[in-house]
Amino acid sequence: MEKTTNKPTFIPKMYCNLFGHDYQVSKKVTYHVKEYTCRHCKKELTTNSNGNLIELTPKFREINAILSRIHASRMQRLKKKPAVSSIY
Ligand SMILES: [Zn+2]
Repeated sequence: MEKTTNKPTFIPKMYCNLFGHDYQVSKKVTYHVKEYTCRHCKKELTTNSNGNLIELTPKFREINAILSRIHASRMQRLKKKPAVSSIY
């Protein structure tokens, strides 16, 4: 008797190897930095400081969390008083 230890025939990663990843923006961190997730294999990417796409490691996830916090508070300040930054 054969054991049915076969993996599922449709492996998302295989699809990506054949057709390429299908990245979608999963999170906007700042104007320039976004996080992307592949629809098929759930691989995650982010934009680094040079504008290149790199793998979203826990380290970059941390950096992005800080960046988005800074970005959000900056946006809030801009909304309140647009001219304040030129004075101080
Ligand atoms: Zn993929």
